[in-house]
Amino acid sequence: MIPYGRQSISDEDVAAVVAVLRSDFLTQGPAVPRFEAEVARIVGARHAVAANSATSALHVACLALGLGKGDFLWTVPNTFVASANCGVYCGASVDFVDIDPVTLNMSVPALEAKLADAERRGRLPKVLVPVHFAGEPCDMAAIGALARRYGVRVIEDASHAIGARQAGRMVGDCAHSDVTVFSFHPVKIVTTAEGGMAVTQDERLAERMALFRSHGITRDPALMQGAVEGPWFYQQLELGYNYRMTDLQAALGLSQLSRLEAFAARRQGLAARYDRLLAGLPVALPYRDAANLSALHLYPVQVARRASVFDALRAAGIGVNVHYFPVHLQPFYRAMGFAAGQFPAAEAYYDRAITLPLHPALTEAEQDHVVSSLRAAL
Ligand SMILES: *Cc1c(COP(=O)(O)O)cnc(C)c1O
Repeated sequence: MIPYGRQSISDEDVAAVVAVLRSDFLTQGPAVPRFEAEVARIVGARHAVAANSATSALHVACLALGLGKGDFLWTVPNTFVASANCGVYCGASVDFVDIDPVTLNMSVPALEAKLADAERRGRLPKVLVPVHFAGEPCDMAAIGALARRYGVRVIEDASHAIGARQAGRMVGDCAHSDVTVFSFHPVKIVTTAEGGMAVTQDERLAERMALFRSHGITRDPALMQGAVEGPWFYQQLELGYNYRMTDLQAALGLSQLSRLEAFAARRQGLAARYDRLLAGLPVALPYRDAANLSALHLYPVQVARRASVFDALRAAGIGVNVHYFPVHLQPFYRAMGFAAGQFPAAEAYYDRAITLPLHPALTEAEQDHVVSSLRAAL
């Protein structure tokens, strides 16, 4: 089966992990801060907080922004469930903003209308989580301007988008957000097996996220209350978690990051080749704005009779997938009162969506097999 996405592991990656295994620290050693500093440097953020997943990073970002009971978090339905669940973890209520049917990202007019309505009803969200779907950046200038106007904090879910650019800026520089989160799951752009990272320009937010990542415990005397009884002393200031990344993972991530540009170039080349080979077929190709550089985590196309096309491609040994079943229609969210028809653009997109294989190890022969199988299925 040709997978829709998978990791690319080099001998250098293996050696980097083995070197940590033979070193003094498997966790809480020097590799994690080095990995944090390198991600921060690449994306243009002042601070970075590594975590054991993007899900954990989203959770600590919400906690650091003070999200809690009685608050609202808004995200899009066309995403992985973690973009919404982080709000529920904090005791907040989750709601959704529909997507734009062309960009498949958060609709700016829908956001604008929903914010105006929420203000009238005194139910403005505390946190907004736009998602850079498939690696194509959301319109962050517009979303950030609306968020500032209404006093809403913004966490960019950039799980698909490390290395993406918008208007000459790197996704992750947080020019229009408080925090940006990346995922290093094996199907994403670079991997640490499991892993994620939250980046920010705000020192205080970074400090709070690091606190929640590690039990709510600090060893910094400047943050402690009352007497510091000695050099052994630490204090628990908040209820935190153990969301730490290991040094094994960070070493793998550092080694992978050195190939970020090569991975991006390979994805661009394969995507452009798909564009050419699929031209003329009754298939809607993935949206890309010429002013942006998509990270191309996914190559999602839209077809009629998606279910039969899906079955035909799977039967041909192609591991196509569907991104995403609308989050508000998951049984967990339906139980909160969400129903079909509430976010029509995300629902209509889902009905036609199918993700073709795209990853650095995909060969042109495999890609030709995908295209000819798709042509036959159509
Ligand atoms: C993969 C993904 C996550 C979760 O990432 P993990 O590192 O697996 O926790 C969150 N949001 C989106 C949009 C994702 O694709």
